Amino acid sequence: MATTHKTRMLIIGSGPAGLSAAIYGARAGMQPIVVQGLQPGGQLTITTDVENYPGFRDVIQGPWLMQEMQAQAEHVGTRMMWDTILEVSLDGSPFRAVGDSGDIYEGDVLVIATGAQAKWLGVPGEQEFSGKGVSACATCDGFFYRGKKVVVIGGGNTAVEEALYLTNHSPDVTLIHRRDSLRAEKILQDRLFAHPNVKVLWNQKVDSFIGEAGKGLAGVKVIDTVTGAESVVETDGAFVAIGHAPATELFKGKLELDESGYIVVEPGTPKTAIPGVFACGDVMDHTYRQAVTAAGTGCMAALDSERFLAELDFKAAQAEVAAV
Ligand code: FAD
Ligand code: NAP
Repeated sequence: MATTHKTRMLIIGSGPAGLSAAIYGARAGMQPIVVQGLQPGGQLTITTDVENYPGFRDVIQGPWLMQEMQAQAEHVGTRMMWDTILEVSLDGSPFRAVGDSGDIYEGDVLVIATGAQAKWLGVPGEQEFSGKGVSACATCDGFFYRGKKVVVIGGGNTAVEEALYLTNHSPDVTLIHRRDSLRAEKILQDRLFAHPNVKVLWNQKVDSFIGEAGKGLAGVKVIDTVTGAESVVETDGAFVAIGHAPATELFKGKLELDESGYIVVEPGTPKTAIPGVFACGDVMDHTYRQAVTAAGTGCMAALDSERFLAELDFKAAQAEVAAV
């Protein structure tokens, strides 16, 4: 039978944003519930080495970091729910969400931390070499390719920015694009074409990622879309940069989304247009998309939740006095 779970603070998503909101929320007495979704721990659970999350001198593992974050959230009083939200009602506090299990969740505030997923090509070898030569995040993994050959796949702003970022580490960066012109802004294209370490391969569709199991990636097999010729671009690292998809399907028509589908918030805050509904992490941030920035905005969402609830409680107390 379906159960209704009530809380002061309902959090959807268990990545760095959701768990940071939970840690702050629990310590502020909001007894948060975190609904974990299909990827408990979020995107960092599908990577290996993390070297840029502050507080750790040595390289740490993404899944381990997320286990620790969850343990910390639970230790201070968060309830973790193994469920995925299928529907939300944002018509005023308390906000209501329905899980895949049939359970109902009600929160006086709602924190949305559903993240964003990198889009993948879906070609052979991509999954096999993911984290062993294939990545979707140059800021995260570029450092591991110091002095090595890398390729970037895509033709938008993200791909060009990733390629330019990688020139900080690599003397040999190749951008592989499926058409004969880039979609990226002109200023970025100008920088890319002017860079001595970058070359562009036009009209090349990625067929597969190749290498030996255990040894890592050796190259990318491409097909010329004009001539049909097949070739292999040898490389140590391949960065897939064909865009990200924010997990905002649930909120279409209920919250303002930008043209790429990210939740629009009041600049510099996690506040959506609905009082008491906050968005944090990658779901509202298409620029930085880092674990530490997601955690930071999760903290902000919890602090703003606390303020919202204090005001709600004050108004309720005033109404009670007026009624006497
Ligand atoms: P996510 O981590 O995406 O978490 C989203 C959460 O929402 C998940 O738990 C998911 O299950 C849940 N969810 C989604 N929909 C629902 C729903 N309907 N109901 C319930 N729950 C739902 N960043 C770094 O700082 N350093 C790195 O080294 C680094 N390496 C990376 C390597 C890879 C391969 C990838 C993909 C990303 C990497 N990042 C790294 C980026 C970092 O992982 C993200 O910026 C960060 O995880 C975003 O956190 P988030 O909490 O906003 O969202
Ligand atoms: P994007 O603009 O949608 O570009 C995606 C690129 O990947 C396109 O060049 C596309 O090729 C290519 N692509 C898509 N699917 C592919 C596939 N299956 N195989 C091969 N190539 C594929 O995505 P984005 O670059 O991530 O940018 C998303 C949004 O964020 C944009 O609005 C962008 O302006 C914004 N953004 C802005 C900045 C900035 O202002 N500095 C930085 C990053 C992102 P085609 O061109 O052939 O379609």
